[in-house]
Amino acid sequence: MSPSVTPERYPVAIVGGGIAGLTLALALEKLGVRYVLFESQSSLAPDRGASVGLQPNGLRILDQLGLIDKIEQHTGTLQRWRHLDGQGELISETKALGYYQSLIGYGPLFLERRKLLEIMADELQDKTAAKTSLRVVSANESSDGVELALSDGHSITADLVIGADGVRSCIREAIDMSRTEWHSEANEYINTQFACIYGISGAIQGIVEGDCFSVYRPEATVLIFTGRNGTIFWFVFEDLGQTYGLSTTPRYTNDDIDALCDSIAHLRLTASVRFGDVYGNRSVAMKVPLEEGLAPSWHTDRMVIVGDAAHKMVPNAAMGANQAIESSATLLNELGNIFTTKDGGSPQPELLANALKRYEDIRKFRASEIVQRAGTICRAQLSHSGPAAAVRQELPSLTDGDWLVRGFMGLSESPVIDGLPVPPRGKFFGQAVEKFWKRFRARQASGFKTSNLELFEIEA
Ligand SMILES: Cc1cc2nc3c(=O)[nH]c(=O)nc-3n(C[C@H](O)[C@H](O)[C@H](O)COP(=O)(O)OP(=O)(O)OC[C@H]3O[C@@H](n4cnc5c(N)ncnc54)[C@H](O)[C@@H]3O)c2cc1C
Repeated sequence: MSPSVTPERYPVAIVGGGIAGLTLALALEKLGVRYVLFESQSSLAPDRGASVGLQPNGLRILDQLGLIDKIEQHTGTLQRWRHLDGQGELISETKALGYYQSLIGYGPLFLERRKLLEIMADELQDKTAAKTSLRVVSANESSDGVELALSDGHSITADLVIGADGVRSCIREAIDMSRTEWHSEANEYINTQFACIYGISGAIQGIVEGDCFSVYRPEATVLIFTGRNGTIFWFVFEDLGQTYGLSTTPRYTNDDIDALCDSIAHLRLTASVRFGDVYGNRSVAMKVPLEEGLAPSWHTDRMVIVGDAAHKMVPNAAMGANQAIESSATLLNELGNIFTTKDGGSPQPELLANALKRYEDIRKFRASEIVQRAGTICRAQLSHSGPAAAVRQELPSLTDGDWLVRGFMGLSESPVIDGLPVPPRGKFFGQAVEKFWKRFRARQASGFKTSNLELFEIEA
């Protein structure tokens, strides 16, 4: 934006061009709503070496946005998941992941996060609406609109501001500050008990495309997914043994990465592969704190938050990005035609405020459950007690059918973007979920005579 540009008014301003921000931008563009997006980084697809696992709930929405073929060109679907103890002994193995593609239309998959962002950004038809290297510095809401001050000294006004600006969201902070009846700050509801080293390694003999591993042991442990041609996306989780507020989360150096990875290099993943082999073959490794928490308040009359800004979870359920996509879809659904039926004028303030309230009401419950579930899985891997110990204990008894039933239950409530066509695979997803519930309820009525696997017509 050059200094001579006069401040503009937009129906919608998106703060943040991550997975949530780009989902919103792509959908608004397809829905014909004028928007502007501000991303503080110089690129919409920065290379931070991270990977991302996409699940059927997120993939169905990305399919609506026209991205599925491009995404699948860069991935293989996950097939087998081996759960191991600290000595490398098998606790349990499931092939449930391998059934998703045929049962629900989309198989869970992993790819480089940069590649996903690149595919999303490329799909934007009007590249000028997404403005990089521009940080939103502050947001000031009045009854007439929200004024966003930008890092280049300019400001814009928007009828609606969507904070898709991640765990350190400035829009969430503005929402918190606007509360007169009570005041909260992120330190009170977002904290860090774990750190994670994430990395990418080239394929190694003994681990094949489709393999996943979870190791269960205290203090530090490993989670591994594979992508196309056996590329290994790996995570080391460290129990920090204490809790930090958002403003005091630790920062890490390369020496910290080496020290932790060396300390678990001996962990056995297969008869021939140890974690040290994976680490030794890395192309990238980064260490980050893992924040967790649910924002207590997601909106004002004209500002709203989505994705990590609203619901920050640890990565163990591979759901943070998928939930960011879901939240974006639900927000758009609740906004309905507020912006599309307008002929350039501003939407009625009460219609807008009610839509934001409905969005928070709908999404908060599901998001908080998933934040909790991801946290429990992380704690199970790190041998915590309580509900986490129960997760670890039931592993040996879980069948592929049990995993599938849980998976289908979790996917049942996932939204689509109402205003966009649902592609054939997305329709198949909807029919599969309907069929599942019909059979599940019929079985309940008949006194549980069939196994969970038979519910999906899979032979044991
Ligand atoms: C190690 C790790 C592994 C993960 N693995 C998975 C996985 O397998 N599957 C999964 O579903 N999820 C995973 N997640 C979670 C997932 O990455 C996040 O949930 C997801 O990226 C959130 O997207 P977002 O758009 O809400 O936020 P972000 O990705 O944080 O994007 C926010 C964007 O806003 C920009 N921004 C911030 N402030 C401003 C400002 N003031 N002005 C302008 N721009 C701003 C930032 O630069 C950034 O680009 C993982 C997370 C971690 C840490």
